[in-house]
Amino acid sequence: MVGAGVVGAACAYYAARAGLAVAVVDRGPVAGGTTGAGEGNLLVSDKEPGPELDLALLSTRLWRELAEDLGEAVEYEPKGGVVVASTAAGHEALRAFAAGQRAVGVIAEEVPGERLRELEPHLAPGLAGGFHYPQDAQVQPALAAAHLLRAARRMGAELITGETVTAVDLGPDGAVRGVRTDRRRLAAPAVVNAAGTWGGELAALAGVHLPVMPRRGFVLVTEPLPRVVRHKVYAADYVANVASGSAGLETSAVIEGTPGGPVLIGASRERVGFDRTLSQEVLRRLAGQAAELFPVLADVTVLRAYRGFRPYLPDHLPAIGADPRVPGLHHACGHEGAGIGLAPATGLLIAEQLTGKQPELDLGPFRADRFPVVGTA
Ligand SMILES: Cc1cc2nc3c(=O)[nH]c(=O)nc-3n(C[C@H](O)[C@H](O)[C@H](O)COP(=O)(O)OP(=O)(O)OC[C@H]3O[C@@H](n4cnc5c(N)ncnc54)[C@H](O)[C@@H]3O)c2cc1C
Repeated sequence: MVGAGVVGAACAYYAARAGLAVAVVDRGPVAGGTTGAGEGNLLVSDKEPGPELDLALLSTRLWRELAEDLGEAVEYEPKGGVVVASTAAGHEALRAFAAGQRAVGVIAEEVPGERLRELEPHLAPGLAGGFHYPQDAQVQPALAAAHLLRAARRMGAELITGETVTAVDLGPDGAVRGVRTDRRRLAAPAVVNAAGTWGGELAALAGVHLPVMPRRGFVLVTEPLPRVVRHKVYAADYVANVASGSAGLETSAVIEGTPGGPVLIGASRERVGFDRTLSQEVLRRLAGQAAELFPVLADVTVLRAYRGFRPYLPDHLPAIGADPRVPGLHHACGHEGAGIGLAPATGLLIAEQLTGKQPELDLGPFRADRFPVVGTA
């Protein structure tokens, strides 16, 4: 596995559990990439019916099982999500969205405006209504990656940090033979590209095109508070922002409490390369939207803000599974803003494929060769 983020960790966990000999290589520490800079929302609520929702529903079940296996340390909270609309038209749009989701197994309970505060006592008054999604949950992403890897190591996996994969070795038949790092050669009949936002670079080392791009996001962290926010709460327009392919700035706050007390307010979306500059405009917009939904947050101190770069593929679906162009090369990257949530299903599907089993879901929509190489006929 190349990458010790949550996706590589989940792949290592399920592959080791399936009895495979596994080595995980990362140029940095565990969770030093986007996993350490994300939030821990495990959402079905924001996904329309289709392959990504199928992955999310499978992951929902797997996260529940993992939480038992990994224990309290990963801060798994099956707290549910609440999506709210400020207008009747917005509520109607949520109703139509939820009807489609229900048809494929999502639990979505309509909440009239006057009952929203039974779920969230500090919500702004006057909202038109919303939906409660009891399957939405939360984990602490860096801890989840660390504990998945710890469990994988107990099952025999090797973890190598601080080494950069600089080459993917191919045999004369074009099949994968292993990888080279800046310090050693690792022989392997299969290589899993779990390099997140850098998955395109890793693919290029094997000679194939995979257009993973960074989509920047900021998160605000407040001072520790008593539980003023009980669920994951966001406004209806968040779904449109997630699905948008625009490179421009989009913000719609998702608000959640954490076991430690701080409230997390995420997240913006924009494609500005790997620009790490702190944007006050973005932070102001997120804070304003959060205070609109929860007026109690208007007087709360923000302790810090951080940013990360989501691994974005142009159709918003990850690349998962064997690459038909290079035998032995598998991809598990490009999960954009949902990689924490989708990690277990990704890991399980990769392990199933590596062990020659029929994967539980059709991997067709996630094929890495679905993107044409720009500039060639
Ligand atoms: C602000 C923000 C909020 C988010 N909120 C959520 C959320 O609430 N829920 C959710 O599900 N997702 C969320 N995400 C998205 C989520 O964080 C990512 O989808 C996920 O972390 C991707 O995990 P990964 O393991 O694929 O990548 P990463 O965690 O980036 O891991 C990839 C690893 O590969 C290593 N690597 C790369 N190239 C090489 C190489 N050549 N050699 C060795 N190692 C290499 C890197 O060092 C890195 O550690 C958010 C993201 C951001 C930025």
